[in-house]
Amino acid sequence: MAGFDRNIVAQVQQSTDIVDVISEHLSLDKKGREYVGICPFHQDHRPSMYVNPTKQIFKCFACGAGGDAFKFIQLRENLSFPAAVERLAGRAGIKLPEWSPSRRRSGNMGPDAHEDYDGEVADIDPTRLSRINDWVVKYLKWNLNDEQVGASARKYVDSRQISGESVKTWGIGFAPEGWDGLLKAAGKAKIAEHELLAGGFVVARDSGGVYDKFRNRLMFPIADVGGRIVGFGGRTLGDDPAKYMNSPATVLFDKSNCLYGLEAARREIVSSGTAVVVEGYTDVIMAHQFGCCNAVATLGTSFTAGHARCLRRYGKQIVLVFDSDIAGVEAANRALEVCLGERIDMKLGFLPQGQDPCDFLLGSGADAFREVVANAVDVMEFKWQRLVDGFQDSGNLTDRRGLIEEYLRTVARAMQSGRFDPISDGLIGQKLSRITGLSEGETRDYLARVAGRMERNSSFAVKNQQVVSVDFGQGLHAMAKRDVLEVLLNEPGLFGEVAGRIGPDAFGGGVLREIAESVFRLCAGDGSPAVGEILAGVESVEAGSAVVELAEEGEKKGNYRQRLCDALDVIDGCRAAANREQLKSGDLTDENTEALRKIGEMISRTGGDNKRNAGMRNF
Ligand SMILES: [Zn+2]
Repeated sequence: MAGFDRNIVAQVQQSTDIVDVISEHLSLDKKGREYVGICPFHQDHRPSMYVNPTKQIFKCFACGAGGDAFKFIQLRENLSFPAAVERLAGRAGIKLPEWSPSRRRSGNMGPDAHEDYDGEVADIDPTRLSRINDWVVKYLKWNLNDEQVGASARKYVDSRQISGESVKTWGIGFAPEGWDGLLKAAGKAKIAEHELLAGGFVVARDSGGVYDKFRNRLMFPIADVGGRIVGFGGRTLGDDPAKYMNSPATVLFDKSNCLYGLEAARREIVSSGTAVVVEGYTDVIMAHQFGCCNAVATLGTSFTAGHARCLRRYGKQIVLVFDSDIAGVEAANRALEVCLGERIDMKLGFLPQGQDPCDFLLGSGADAFREVVANAVDVMEFKWQRLVDGFQDSGNLTDRRGLIEEYLRTVARAMQSGRFDPISDGLIGQKLSRITGLSEGETRDYLARVAGRMERNSSFAVKNQQVVSVDFGQGLHAMAKRDVLEVLLNEPGLFGEVAGRIGPDAFGGGVLREIAESVFRLCAGDGSPAVGEILAGVESVEAGSAVVELAEEGEKKGNYRQRLCDALDVIDGCRAAANREQLKSGDLTDENTEALRKIGEMISRTGGDNKRNAGMRNF
């Protein structure tokens, strides 16, 4: 199984609670013995996703997504099975074996692989780089704490009123002046030069050799959502024109999808439903220091769709905080695109001009900051208001209709960048009609017209990840195969009845075969595997959803032994019929005649107008 020992997969599964894992992505409410929440895999506002802590599985009754914790992570974060195992192993603190070169060469670069990945420079495996990052954190902390080396950095920290506790929590460190401080220390720690290059800690000289990238900077380790250090940001303490500097893209670090502080802010974002996005490291740190723990920051880039997708996993609303509404005007168009393209509520919050969130918190306190967030303006309303103001300023307030057209054109243009079509989604019609005063129908018609014109040039890319439900096939034979799996998933003790008669090959190819192989292997092993174990044995998300569906359907139908016997008879009979066809021989063994008789009976029992069995008419 893709490079992992099954024991390790089992160990990761046992150390992972699916309720915890899913809670990190959506809020779950307890309902009886299960938990329910709003499914993130289809558009909904009713809670249709069920999580069963006993079986360690989830299931959405609306879209059919289902599986175990691995499948949830695969679907949610669009990861391969091995990458999901790796992610959950990291979360559970289980060390996976080092990556083998063969796995790397096969193109499987792990969870955070990035397209910009440069094969030569980044020739390092993520586990190794993660360890080096941890070492660098220690090295930087040591510098900050050293009485002489760290004196100037500590003075700056004090001047920014970053508390000792914050320094500790955020792992703040210091990269001192000089060209080879880290280089030398790393050498002593047996970290090779090419590894430092791959991690972005040193820069190659044209004349050969390397030098430290971060010099005289206060350093902020950047964690991914699982708490793993993936990169670093440094703020200059001198007069370097580059005030902030980040790690380059590495096998672990992808700036456009990474948010500073997300790991610390995640829970508060889930419980409050709101993510507050500020600009700098110190803004995030100060917000948390003041108890506003849902603050995160982009890493020197503007807010992207990738960031929105990332935050949408945790909260339904995003508030971007700016240091003045002038900065906000520039950001509004971009924010409008992101909010319409990514199906997320976005608001803009404004601080008094010239104050960053850090200054503002220190000067005015947490309540004032919360008020800024609470008073944030919806980005679509903001855009409209600016347009109205603009028209008024120019004294050209003639045609309200013209204004509305102009506005809707802006909205339609923003929608173009989106991954889905918010018009047909009904998401914005109401909001727009409230803003513009047009009826909802008029608004939609207009938008559809404009969007249609634009679509001819570049189409809406609708690429929401969806679970393709498995086609189990039609007819009695397909039903029989399905029955066998339904029964074994619920009553693995009956495997003895199946073992001698059919093997996984009886299930053809594709998803059913994948499931059958996992079921047969585990049943033949210790005899009574739980659904969760069978889930851990299938890699595709389709198979995962199918396993949960089969297990649930099977449980509802019950009557295991009888159904299994009937099903096996059908499969035997079908095989015999196929053989007969193949051999063109009229001779049937008594056993097969009996099987065919039973099939005949079952066809009449299942009834003539059962469309599922329509295919059996020619049998
Ligand atoms: Zn769903």
